[in-house]
Amino acid sequence: MNRRKYLFPNVIELNLAAGRPLGVNVYLIDGGSEYVLLDVGMEDTLDEVIDLIRAMDFPLSKCKMLIATHADVDHVQALASARERLRTKTAAHPKAAALIETGEPVQTYAVIAAQGVSERMPGCKIDKKLKDGDEVKVGELTLQVLHTPGHTAGQLSFRLGHLIFSGDNIYADGGVGVIDAHHGSNIPEFIASLTRLRDADASFLLPSHGPPFRHDRAMIQATIDRLTAYLRMPDFGTCAIEWPLEQQWKADILAGKMPQFE
Ligand SMILES: [Zn+2]
Repeated sequence: MNRRKYLFPNVIELNLAAGRPLGVNVYLIDGGSEYVLLDVGMEDTLDEVIDLIRAMDFPLSKCKMLIATHADVDHVQALASARERLRTKTAAHPKAAALIETGEPVQTYAVIAAQGVSERMPGCKIDKKLKDGDEVKVGELTLQVLHTPGHTAGQLSFRLGHLIFSGDNIYADGGVGVIDAHHGSNIPEFIASLTRLRDADASFLLPSHGPPFRHDRAMIQATIDRLTAYLRMPDFGTCAIEWPLEQQWKADILAGKMPQFE
């Protein structure tokens, strides 16, 4: 039996448990009599994920639920296979469920035609829809569900005591999940979600990529400030709410003003 490498009490992260990078973070939340997984990753690592769970002496039959933080392919490609092999239930936000159930390839980044990316995105039934304020019982533990849209409309975060599993909202370097109109990103909603995480009474954030990090209001605020600037810059196209430079340009043209360089 592998020694269980707990990251925090009741929390194991499977890349760390494996001792090698598998892909997206896969959190096993151990409620004692049962456990859940937050995300399952890609199909080509599912065998290893399942072997690890067995090696840590978690019976597959005690997996209460596979929870998708959102619908991106790197988080959920293996969900359908994992649901079959663990004979368990799946859960996601309704807006993620709609993409996962149909195996939608574009909004999930399974297919990025311009970059020649083409991954499988098997459809998977989502047994339970989770919304903000819901609670998921895991043995003796309670996970609180937070709907934190912005990166994508169906992004969920979860609170477990003083820990927040923050999905693709923010990483240890202050980076955020991709902002992309084709992905359903929404910068005002993203800022609202980050503000909620900033103001949360939490000690650590456990993101879907990279290491966990201390909850630091100033660090989250710096990210909020960056995204706030994007609202009025063209960097993310139609995700901006306005572009003052272009508005001024149009006004100048209409006013017959020529560019002046002195
Ligand atoms: Zn991600």
